[in-house]
Amino acid sequence: TLRGKTALITGSTSGIGLAYAKALAGQGANIIINGFGAPEAIEQERLALEGLSGARAVYCGHDMTKPDEIEAMMRHAADAFGGVDILINNAGMQHVAPVEAFPVEKWDLIIALNLTSAFHTCRLAIPYMKQQRWGRIIQTASAHSLTASPFKSAYVTAKHGLAGLTKTIALETATFGITANCISPGYVWTPLVENQIPDTMKARNMTREQVMNDVLLAGQPTKQFVTVEQVAETALFLCSDAASNITGTNISVDGGWTAQ
Ligand code: NAD
Repeated sequence: TLRGKTALITGSTSGIGLAYAKALAGQGANIIINGFGAPEAIEQERLALEGLSGARAVYCGHDMTKPDEIEAMMRHAADAFGGVDILINNAGMQHVAPVEAFPVEKWDLIIALNLTSAFHTCRLAIPYMKQQRWGRIIQTASAHSLTASPFKSAYVTAKHGLAGLTKTIALETATFGITANCISPGYVWTPLVENQIPDTMKARNMTREQVMNDVLLAGQPTKQFVTVEQVAETALFLCSDAASNITGTNISVDGGWTAQ
């Protein structure tokens, strides 16, 4: 059980982040969710999380591309719960363009959100974790933290950087009961992925099945999407005592993608 622990998950109003929040709430942790979306929908999710945990769930709408807002969120977490025991850096975005045509502002935004935000949350969370002599830092990296695809220069750069940051933090915190690890999914079935299907069907004149198997799952040997629950269960394991000697590693949940 994670009762008495507080988990902060960035980018947790949808997809993988929301699944982490539900899994951790199911173990009784206090939850801080973060991300954008319709206020009513977010409030419903917040109440549902409290129903699962019997503990508190708090929403912070801070923008993770902005260091001063990250600082404000971490102060809010400290005021509400004393500090963050489980930090999951999950907020992320993608942009697809050849490097010579990559919009400079998109590059800056993706590096800020997918990489630099994790530096800020980690540097602000670690003092409390060290003091508690317990902490779990989990990054949603990606198969793209280990391998590249064309036209995703900012995303691949940020995710490789996140893997390096995580290894460094693991070494610095190893004697304090803190672990730091990456979870690296392949294609996960989220609204983000589902919403690409109709346009891709039109653009390539393909059926739904063709888009799923020949485009999205082309590089995923199992020919199955990873589910958000499978990613969340991996995070739960990393929070358990059984995983207290797993630190500085990068766990692929990618249906064999990066074995190729
Ligand atoms: P998603 O779009 O469903 O969720 C993204 C979340 O981040 C949302 O809650 C959104 O509101 C939030 N967000 C976006 N910009 C933000 C900002 N500036 N500040 C705070 N929150 C912000 O996407 P997802 O598929 O669940 O992706 C979550 C993470 O998983 C990302 O880091 C992504 O790179 C990674 N990932 C996803 C896949 C996949 O196939 N879906 C594969 C590998 C890795």
